[in-house]
Order: sequence, then structure tokens, then C-alpha cells
Amino acid sequence: MSFMKQSANLQPIEDTVFAVVSMAKQDIAEHGADAVVDATIGSLYDECGKLVAYQNVFDHYNAIAKEVKAAYAASFTGNPGYRAQVKNWVLQDQPIHLNASVIATPGGTGAVNMTMINVLEPGQTVVLPEICWGSYNLMAAQAGLQTAAYSMFDGDHFNLPSFKETCRRVIAEQGRLLAVINDPCHNPTGYSMSLDEWRQVVRFLNELSEQGPCVILNDIAYIDYSYQGQHSRDYLNCLNAMNENVLTVIAFSCSKTLTSYGLRCGAALILGQDEQRVREAEIVFEKTARATWSNIPNAAMENFTWITTENRAAFESEKQIYVDLLKQRSALFIQEADACGLAYYPYKEGFFVTLKTPDNNLRDQYHEKLIANHIYTVKVNKGIRVAVCSLSVAKVKGLAERMKQILSTLQ
Ligand code: PLP
Repeated sequence: MSFMKQSANLQPIEDTVFAVVSMAKQDIAEHGADAVVDATIGSLYDECGKLVAYQNVFDHYNAIAKEVKAAYAASFTGNPGYRAQVKNWVLQDQPIHLNASVIATPGGTGAVNMTMINVLEPGQTVVLPEICWGSYNLMAAQAGLQTAAYSMFDGDHFNLPSFKETCRRVIAEQGRLLAVINDPCHNPTGYSMSLDEWRQVVRFLNELSEQGPCVILNDIAYIDYSYQGQHSRDYLNCLNAMNENVLTVIAFSCSKTLTSYGLRCGAALILGQDEQRVREAEIVFEKTARATWSNIPNAAMENFTWITTENRAAFESEKQIYVDLLKQRSALFIQEADACGLAYYPYKEGFFVTLKTPDNNLRDQYHEKLIANHIYTVKVNKGIRVAVCSLSVAKVKGLAERMKQILSTLQ
């Protein structure tokens, strides 16, 4: 007799990433780092294979008084200075004329989960990208939600027809919509939507909202690694055109922005035309915060605020070194993939490139064959994720061609 509720899923999490990471480590221990390509790790690593932890983030964090680290946050919604600064940082100089509210969350994960559980009733359906960060599906399942997936690409572009068709079907069934758009720097493909694609999404949701409220959950976990610099936020301007029946929740994360994955700090930025509706979301989110994590680490919030204001120039120039490095690694991989005809999903920017393997059976065989050749990657739906964020330029060199050769033995 289980003590867990009847609806609980007792199946352990199938942590396929962890399993491959351990295999890669074992291989390195046996054959040495030079013999192995470990493209599994989704965090930023330097050219010597070490986790990047920005000096401009952690020097200040280490100097924060222990009493500040020990203290509770000022509020369940987050420290006031942090809430204001998250809004400034996310929107930067975009002229956004919407009502806004920020709720501090434990990373982007907290913001995504909080939105799913509060926008939809158990049994309803959340719209997700077909190729996506695996946690979305787990969060949906834990909240008792169904999922409907839109195909990500139509050729080299965002698959707007599939997005529209999926949203139409879901709203017709349940009279409301929650759609996740992980953009820019989509995990795992590295796609970023164009301004026109964003404009069309907003125009479409305005039309659709005649049938019920529509919420866009825009996950921007990797936005600060966009290759567009200041222009990475231009698309936010399109949100000004939302009507009062459309709301956007932006899930922001300090994990990647500050290389502070373990400090568990992020936020939900609610944006909408109607002040009352934004306030409602804020009230409900605050209750979720209080009832689940209570409050966010005080020092992590204070650190973000200081770094992105007083220490902004130094922090940004340190981060830019790694954005440039990421660009160099991904450009090399893609140039070599193009040269040998290795197919990948349309990549624009960000931590990962994903090889196109629409047949998941072939993908499984390919993944195993790569492992047999000391190349460790992560399986995603219809693809093989290559984490250029943690591969040195030297490791990237020649990798695409090796991967192509291995694939040829299967086809
Ligand atoms: N969204 C995406 C697409 C991610 O890949 C991640 C982390 O890997 C997150 C959100 C959330 O990360 P965190 O909860 O550490 O902010």
C-alpha cells in the first residue's frame, strides 16, 4: 500500500543526462581527457575545461556580510530593489508601456512552474515546443496537466502554422491558453525568433483571445548569451501590441546570466495591458511563493542588484568574453557541419546546437554509436544535443566531421 496519493507517479525520474555524464566521467578516468569529447554539460565551461564562475559576481558575493546571507528576504515577493532591478535588466531600454510586476523565484524553474500551476486547472493542457527543455514536461505532469506540442520549425523558420493550429485546438477545448515560448536562444536548438515572427505570434494571440484568456510564458533563461547584444531585447517591443486578454509571464533566471546556477535566484516578470489582471497574477504568485519556497536567498538577490547596477560595466565585459567564446565555438561547429553535410536544427545563438535526427530510433542508435566512439551528447526529442557551452574550441575542431562519419555508418 503506497503512502503517496493515488495520482502520484511512482516511476523514478529517468535521468538520462546524469547517466551519460557519469559514463563520460568514467571514460575520461580510464582513457584521459584528450580521448573523450564530453558535450553533455549544459553550463558554461572555459577553455581549460573548468566551470566558469564570474569573478565580478563571486568576489562581491563572497564579501557580503554573513548576516545578510543569513537573513530572510524582505518579502515573499522578493526584495524591493531586486524586483525593480529585474524589470530594468530584462526590459533594458525597450519602451514597454505595459503594467508590470516582478515576483522573485528560485531560478527560472520556479517562474515556469508557478505559471503552469496557476494559469491552468489540473487536467487542462499546456502548449509546449515539440523539442524542448525536458523539465517542462515533468512540471506539467506534476501539476496534472496534459501537453500539446507545436512543431518548432518550418524549414529554417519558426513553425507559425503549427503553433497556431496547436493553440486553436487547445483553446477550443478549454477556453483558455497557456503557451510556452523559450526564446531567444532556445534550449536545445539555439534558435531565436525574428521580430516578424514575434509580431505574428502576438497578432495571432490577440485574435485567439476572443475565445478566452491567452498567456504567453516566455522563458528567457539564456537571453544574456544572445549574440545580438543590446538588440536581444528588441522583440519585447512586440508585446506592447498585446490586447487586454493576453498576458505575458517572462521567466528570468540568474543561473546563466550570472553563472550562479546553485544560488537559485530568478523571477517571473508579469506584463499586461490591464493593471487589475497583472495585480491578480501577482497576488496568486505571491501565495504560491509563500506556500512553497517561502522566500528567495537574500544575498543572491542583493548580489544581482549590485552587480547589474554598480558593477555593471565590469560584469558585462567579463560576460562578453564568454559570449564571444560561445560564438567562436558554435561558428566552428556549424561551419564544419555545413562542410560535411551534418544536419542540425536552425541555430542562431546560445549554449547548444542540436543535430537533426527526426527518427528517434535512429537517434538512439546514433547516440550509442557516438558513445562507443567516446563522444558524449544528450538525447532530446528528434535530436542529439551538443553542448558547445562546455566544449573548448580545440574539442569542437573536427567534431562535426567525426559525428558525420559515425552517422554514415548507420544510414
Ligand atoms: N529554462 C530553460 C530552457 C533551461 O534550460 C533552464 C535550465 O537549464 C531553466 C529554464 C531554468 O534554470 P534555473 O532554474 O536554474 O534558472
